[in-house]
Amino acid sequence: MKETMEYTFAAIALIQEKTKAKPEFEPNLNDEKKGCTGEIECPKCGGVLHYSVAGGNHHIWGTCETKDCLRWMM
Ligand SMILES: [Zn+2]
Repeated sequence: MKETMEYTFAAIALIQEKTKAKPEFEPNLNDEKKGCTGEIECPKCGGVLHYSVAGGNHHIWGTCETKDCLRWMM
């Protein structure tokens, strides 16, 4: 489970870098309230990991297309 957590944090770091998420959250999103979604390469399996960043609270959700791979909500 520790490995999964590490991969999850790695994925979140990638997403934050991609979306320029910061404490202030740069308004690079079209709709601040709507947030944004996208895809990154899954750091665990190399597959497609879909993510969603909430515009309001900046919570990041992620789901890898690979079965039993990364999947989190926080
Ligand atoms: Zn994966």
